[in-house]
Amino acid sequence: MTAPLIDPFQRAITYLRVSVTDRCDFRCVYCMSENMTFLPKKDLLTLEELDRMCSSFIRLGVEKLRITGGEPLVRRGIMTFFNAMSRHLDSGALKELTLTTNGSQLEKFAGDLWAAGVRRVNISLDTLDETKFAEITRWGRLPQVLRGIDAAQKVGMRVKLNAVALKGFNDVELFDLVDWCKDRDIDLTFIEVMPMGDIGNEDRLDQYWPLSDLRAQLADRFTLTDLDERSGGPARYVRLEETGQKIGFITPLTHNFCESCNRVRLTCTGEIYTCLGQEGMQDLRPALRDHPGDDAPLEQAIRAAIGLKPKGHDFDYSRQDVAGKMSRHMSHTGG
Ligand code: SAM
Ligand code: SF4
Repeated sequence: MTAPLIDPFQRAITYLRVSVTDRCDFRCVYCMSENMTFLPKKDLLTLEELDRMCSSFIRLGVEKLRITGGEPLVRRGIMTFFNAMSRHLDSGALKELTLTTNGSQLEKFAGDLWAAGVRRVNISLDTLDETKFAEITRWGRLPQVLRGIDAAQKVGMRVKLNAVALKGFNDVELFDLVDWCKDRDIDLTFIEVMPMGDIGNEDRLDQYWPLSDLRAQLADRFTLTDLDERSGGPARYVRLEETGQKIGFITPLTHNFCESCNRVRLTCTGEIYTCLGQEGMQDLRPALRDHPGDDAPLEQAIRAAIGLKPKGHDFDYSRQDVAGKMSRHMSHTGG
């Protein structure tokens, strides 16, 4: 038996999020600038290398794998990777294989993803208004995403929507989003906007809509019951008693969730970030590339990186200034 991955604060690491590309077919205003410089292809881990990385983490006790990006479904050949990962579901080592996507390619891939063992998908959607959707994503088209959601539900996947809460943008749509999700039996989670990367002229303090406000608005119309459910991550859930819906809140800025953190993030170049809200990372690629056919050095490098996992993040908007800001974009680590 290999020893499980335990960090210096006695947290077991069982969840790996992998960004398989930094590229995307959208340019969401809170995530990217209009003119992004992407990594040259030669810097990316190949699909075989991604497989070796993920398989090593799984051997060390990772039970949940979330594929993200950039937009994971625009990475060429990505289904080969999903199909390869399904062997870990078959063996029972992996309990869940899932992804976070903008939904633009789901119409095409939902069936294949289901066949590879994906049973749940997180889809990012901030507005149901076609004009506003084009504005917030810059390059996205709402009908295409809605067809993607339909396709995922049709093959049987459980869909969760992630909506970034944006003041002066989707605050007016709160109840429309809630009602729409109820009608379609879709879970809904709101995310506070985080200070990640240079995104051009946007002002984060202008965009920031604290979820404590959003929650208070929900409470005006619904009876909210806090749920105990925890995923080891930043999400907290309530049930709307009148409809039975589950609503999630991801509040890295108003709430500290680090004490139960069970996750680490791998970038498409093989860097491991053990905290979303800290700059520190280790490069696992040398251990991978310098030892083809021998995963022992890679496993050692993974253990060493987990041994440096920080206690928590330092995001803070409280003094009318954005403190703890990260220089990298969210698409680098995949959220
Ligand atoms: N392209 C995929 C998507 O949009 O779902 C996966 C990658 S995207 C970086 C993952 C999540 O990060 C999305 O739900 C997106 O809304 C969120 N996100 C991006 N930038 C953010 C920011 N600055 N603050 C909070 N959430 C952000
Ligand atoms: Fe692309 Fe997702 Fe970032 Fe939007 S949030 S630009 S869809 S990576």
